[in-house]
This record gives sequence, C-alpha cells and structure tokens, in this order.
Amino acid sequence: MRRAGRVVAMVLSRLAGEVGPGVKTKELDRVCVAELKKHGATASFKGYRGFPASLCVSVNNEIVHDIPSDRVIQEGDIVSLDFGAIVDGFHGDAAMTVGVGGVSPEAGRLIEAAEGALAAGIGAARSGARLGDVSVAIQQHVESRGFSVVREYTGHGIGRDMHEEPSVPNFGVPGQGPVMLKGMTLALEPMVNAGGWRTVVGDDHWLVMTADGSLSAHFEHTIAVTDGEAEILTAL
Ligand code: MG
Repeated sequence: MRRAGRVVAMVLSRLAGEVGPGVKTKELDRVCVAELKKHGATASFKGYRGFPASLCVSVNNEIVHDIPSDRVIQEGDIVSLDFGAIVDGFHGDAAMTVGVGGVSPEAGRLIEAAEGALAAGIGAARSGARLGDVSVAIQQHVESRGFSVVREYTGHGIGRDMHEEPSVPNFGVPGQGPVMLKGMTLALEPMVNAGGWRTVVGDDHWLVMTADGSLSAHFEHTIAVTDGEAEILTAL
C-alpha cells in the first residue's frame, strides 16, 4: 500500500505541473500512462467498469469521472485530477484540484475549503473513533465556509480492490458508523461544490457535474489508520 501510494503521489505531483492554458486533457492522460509505466505500476481506473482512461480530468463545474479528451484547459479554470495506481496487487488513490493562472476569488476559496476538508477528515481518522466522526469533520469544514459537500459519491475502503467497504460519506453524524481500527486503509475524498450539493450525470454515463452549474473541487488521499495521527500513504 505504501509503495502504491508513493507512486500515486509522485505521478500526481508531475501531472499538476503539466496543467496549464492550452493543454488538452487527453495529453495529461498520456503523461499519466507514461509515468505509471516508468514506475512499474498499472492504472486502477483503466478498464474499471469499462472506464477508457487512466486519469479523470474534471474541469470547473465537473465534479469527477470526466474522460480525458480534446478539451483545452483555459486560464482561470480549476482542474481536478484523480487517479489510482496498482503496485504488487495493492491500490493507491488520490486527487487534487489545481487552479490555472489567476482563478476567481470564489474558486480560490473553494479549492482551499476542499483541501482543508480533507485535512480535517484525516485529523478525525484514528483507531477507536467512528467513521461518522470523519464524515462530520469534512462536512463542517466545508459548510462553515458556505460551500456544500457532494452526497451521491463517497470515499471508500481501499486495498487489494480500489473500492472496498466501508464507504466514507462526506456528511454524517458524530459517533455513528463503523469503528475505525489500526491498519484500516481508507480513501477520503471530499468533493465540494460552490453552490448546492446536487449532481447530474453526463450523456456518456461517466461525467458527474454540479446540477446548478457551480464550480466543484476535489481532494483525496489514501490513508492508514493508526493509534495516533493517520499515515497519509499518497503524500510525497
Ligand atoms: Mg477514490
């Protein structure tokens, strides 16, 4: 899990550096494929339920699961990169949202809120606490900043499969849900909308967008629960 996480962190950092005005989203997928190969890893997403790419690149009002295409990234866009890698049979999964050049003040606050929400969720993840504590930490961080958390898509357990039990909602009630135990590995992934939490799915049945057209940001880490602070497996 540590090795897979490390590969994901390195490739994600490389991809974030490639995001810029004039870049096509499918070029980022190509970089992702080449980088994974270099590290001897395979993509978690490619072929997953028929997903045709190794990377999801979701821009502005797109939340998750957009298939890389000829779409050209523009100055002022916010670009969410999400992907997973398999090393020795174990998965790592992470995401981040990058602002392209001078983004609007709202977009900047949104990205900060989503990144902060992930940190708040990780801070609540420890052995003996309940999953609801993680969910509510994420939700409170986001809602106290005037944004909303997506409800139809969640974080998840991760290990030999990319998506394992339990699911980790980004909203909840403290003290509820399964108890976390040392050694559990989870992917926490707040998806944060500037407007309402409702979503719509695109014609390709993959792309998920905000129902009201507002901007959305997404951060994710794969973590291991310990007796103290969780270990972030997808950090550099
Ligand atoms: Mg995930």
